[in-house]
Amino acid sequence: MHKRLFLSPPHMSGNEQKYINEVFQSNYIAPLGAFVQKFEESICQYTLSPNALVVTSGTAAIHLALRVLGVKEGDDVLASTFTFIGSIAPILYQNANPVFIDSDYESWNLDPKLLNKYLLECEKKPKALIVTHLYGQVAKIKIIADICKFHGVYLIEDAAESLGASYHEKQSGTYGDFGVYSFNGNKILTTSGGGMLVSANKEWIDKAKFYSTQAKEDCLHYEHTEYGYNYRMSNVLAAIGVAQMEVLQKRVDKKREIFEWYKEELNDLLEFMPELEGSRGNRWLTTVLLKSEKEVSTLIDALSKENCECRPLWKPMHRQKLFEGAKAILNGVSEDLFKRGLCLPSGTLMNRDDVKRVCEIIKSV
Ligand SMILES: *Cc1c(COP(=O)(O)O)cnc(C)c1O
Repeated sequence: MHKRLFLSPPHMSGNEQKYINEVFQSNYIAPLGAFVQKFEESICQYTLSPNALVVTSGTAAIHLALRVLGVKEGDDVLASTFTFIGSIAPILYQNANPVFIDSDYESWNLDPKLLNKYLLECEKKPKALIVTHLYGQVAKIKIIADICKFHGVYLIEDAAESLGASYHEKQSGTYGDFGVYSFNGNKILTTSGGGMLVSANKEWIDKAKFYSTQAKEDCLHYEHTEYGYNYRMSNVLAAIGVAQMEVLQKRVDKKREIFEWYKEELNDLLEFMPELEGSRGNRWLTTVLLKSEKEVSTLIDALSKENCECRPLWKPMHRQKLFEGAKAILNGVSEDLFKRGLCLPSGTLMNRDDVKRVCEIIKSV
């Protein structure tokens, strides 16, 4: 049996262990220490966002953004329907109501036309929008940011999958009021688990830090006027993050190369995820469209038999039982993408022969 090819397994740079040893020598085995700050600085340097806060997960980072923006019970929060649950669950943590917006075919991400139409017609103005940059492809973020500004709606970018992707030379995650990155085990970089919140607004990041460390007032004993969360990242994991950030550009280039290898082999057979003009995605996962649902399941069977991990695209949120009855502004695009889409093994440790192996299986079907 061939070795198993995963969708996107961890890929260490070699310095992680060294930095972890430094943590142990300093004895800062805690959610504070030199690497926590270093990790935040490295994200600021790479994304050019002036402020960053590192926390235990991307989901926690989104939750903090909503809390700082004052999203509360009964508020409406707009969101991409074509996304992962971690993007949406924080809306429920705040007892607010998600309103889902569908995708367009050019970006697979949120359709700005649907967004604008809804905001012109809605009776109750939503507090915020959470827009996802799916599979490392940047949404039409410039126009989406303009629409949000015009209507007075806060913008949170879920860039959990798109660290290192850019649109008109500006990094994904830095167009909105807040941006969020994830370092979960399957993301382009990983600390085994973790997340980062970025914003141009220093007061907001300071406030998020306050909430992420149990909302302790500034005095020696424990004084509380508000409640917070225990969301701050461990110094041990931050050490992994610092080492991972050193190879981010390499990882983006490799992910893009893998996509090109697949495309060379299969361009006549499959439709590949597009890339918006003026953007450079990180190609976190190579994703393709087939002609029918049946073709997808046939391929998944064939690839699984040969020890290749593959998966359908994200099931849209408006189709989840959890959100039965939630408001959704639809055009059928995300549903079609879900039915016909497939994610292929895209780990950055793969070589050209690994990609060829997957392609041969696909061709044989
Ligand atoms: C991974 C992911 C998240 C959640 O990040 P965690 O760090 O796993 O909490 C949110 N949104 C999207 C689109 C993701 O892919």
